[in-house]
Amino acid sequence: MAGQSRARHLVQGVLAACLFAAGTAAAEKVALTFDDLPLNGALPAGTTRSAITRETLAVLKRLDVPPSYGFVNARKLEGSPDGALALRLWVDAGHPVGNHAYSHMDLHKNSAEDYTRDIVQNEPALELLSTRDGTVSDSWRWFRYPFLREGETLDKRRAVRAFLAQRGYRIAQTTLDYEDYLWNTAYARCLDRGDKEAMAWLRESYLEMATAYLKSGRETARMVFGREISHVLLLHLGAFSSTILPDLVALLRKEGFQLTTLEDAQSDPVYALDPDVASKWGGTLTELFMEARSLKYTYPKKPREKLEGICKAT
Ligand SMILES: [Zn+2]
Repeated sequence: MAGQSRARHLVQGVLAACLFAAGTAAAEKVALTFDDLPLNGALPAGTTRSAITRETLAVLKRLDVPPSYGFVNARKLEGSPDGALALRLWVDAGHPVGNHAYSHMDLHKNSAEDYTRDIVQNEPALELLSTRDGTVSDSWRWFRYPFLREGETLDKRRAVRAFLAQRGYRIAQTTLDYEDYLWNTAYARCLDRGDKEAMAWLRESYLEMATAYLKSGRETARMVFGREISHVLLLHLGAFSSTILPDLVALLRKEGFQLTTLEDAQSDPVYALDPDVASKWGGTLTELFMEARSLKYTYPKKPREKLEGICKAT
């Protein structure tokens, strides 16, 4: 009896150790990234780009979010000192900037030559923002493809990739994306109207979609890579950011994510893999691998029509 009891204790001990290990080691990492700086979507009445950035930065600081990349389209700075101030605030708060192409060009509607020119045209602003005490940091040599479109033909895809590698860029991938930008302009309109009920629905629908897409992002990553990976979440800096970020970060932590930097997330070896696929619509790294391997998955449906119509004049 004593032997059986010891054995049982031993088994229970091993099980507990396994559960403990699973519970502690399983924290999946996620890096937050923000596109379309200085501003994605509409600007609500009576505010500024720099005010939106300042409020978002305060929330990131309060929530202890690690340095997070902001991907810049410098064309938005033309004639906008306030946009330039917003970017200055971003880097002064300790967050890096990366390249998102000067004019947010769509690779699928332009040649590889025009596209790479658009990337180069964005560089002086990034260099300036990454200069401190006369020293330029290379931190801006990360490229995020606008619209997540990496080429609808293999020729274009490979030409742009070769250009980026030769110029010292790393590709800022994404693995979690629920088109959060849909909420920015909708929120700006509802805020202008002071429609509290509509704003409450925006928060509720956003969190519902974020929850659903965190789940689908994890499931599809397991389908493609056969294990849990470190994730990169695509967000857009806009009118809704500072309002929704506390709830989003709480959700990520509740779901077991540990927030990290882009560099750390992309040190996961999956980010060195290239799906090398000609994709008509583009997508996250995981989605492009799904396409390359003809893997099927039913993604949750977003309330796109309601978001596009909400708080519009009738
Ligand atoms: Zn963008």
